[in-house]
Amino acid sequence: MTVLEVDGLHTRFPTPRGTVDAVNEVDLRIEPGEIVGLVGESGSGKSVLAESIMGIVEEPGEIASGDIRLHGESLLDLPESKRREIRGGTISMVFQDPMNSLNPTLTVGEQIAEMVRLHQPVGESVSLPAELKRKLVGSSKNGQAWRRAIEMLESVEIPEPETRASDYPHEFSGGMRQRAMIAMALAAEPDLLIADEPTTALDVTIQAQILDELRELKDAFDTSILLITHDLAVVSEVCDRVNVMYAGEIVERADATELFSDPQHPYTQGLIASTPRLDAPMDSLEPIDGNVPDLIDIPFACHFAPRCPEATRECYEIDPNFRPVDADTDGESNDHVAACLRRGPTEERL
Ligand code: SF4
Repeated sequence: MTVLEVDGLHTRFPTPRGTVDAVNEVDLRIEPGEIVGLVGESGSGKSVLAESIMGIVEEPGEIASGDIRLHGESLLDLPESKRREIRGGTISMVFQDPMNSLNPTLTVGEQIAEMVRLHQPVGESVSLPAELKRKLVGSSKNGQAWRRAIEMLESVEIPEPETRASDYPHEFSGGMRQRAMIAMALAAEPDLLIADEPTTALDVTIQAQILDELRELKDAFDTSILLITHDLAVVSEVCDRVNVMYAGEIVERADATELFSDPQHPYTQGLIASTPRLDAPMDSLEPIDGNVPDLIDIPFACHFAPRCPEATRECYEIDPNFRPVDADTDGESNDHVAACLRRGPTEERL
């Protein structure tokens, strides 16, 4: 069964200047065992989409319409208590900056052990004041949760995990902290891990190691992953399928290999042309002109039109719905779709 289905999601934020449509009519699917990429520049709505899935959109933001289903069950119909149970349990999230997510006053092992305890089957779950929980977890170094914490640190390749479990976050390097965050997120054996720019703050070597580990952990823990990044190189490294997001909308979706070999949407083409590659000189990079537009009342139909080298007058007036990219060659649609008036079946192109 499909792990996650997002249908027509619209998340908005009222502001004194007008409504920011941060996520607009977005569809997304994640199948069991898949790593699905969500890629786009800063401000494209990627993180708000993740927050919508997690149920942590900050007020006054709200999900105005659409649906989010986990294993077929709508999350939007659930009471907050049930969503809290799912958060960190069935769905976990890893953020870009582990220092903001790890508690500096608890050892790394205690924090992972606490996560294990919180998401154990009903009956063993605890809802206690933080200080008491800390004492309980801290005093259970021979307990099951502590042993599990050490196993989790070992699984993310922290050296000497038995010793390092007693370290505080500031005693870990940046790469080790990110690994610890991943260990914590996987401690509850979630069905879906959302990783939001998990390697952005790290140097390239550590980044590659962590991406490798994510791929291995996905298999070991039987977890699907939604990988959010602005970095196409990261996506090409680990993802099965990719969604390209621009100004609150998904503009292209394809198998990862096909997206890189045959990008269709002018925005995807621009992203690829502006991404450094080992086999191409840096001076061959072509940045995309302009910036992501202000998401308040965008006045043109295709949100990319002001930056698009192929834009025509129609692009400002006609909504570019998704079109299957190869439908004109084999007569059938496939999973590669692009929201551009100048792509898709020849007879439909402008
Ligand atoms: S619809 Fe027009 S402006 Fe938008 S991406 Fe396609 S060609 Fe460019």
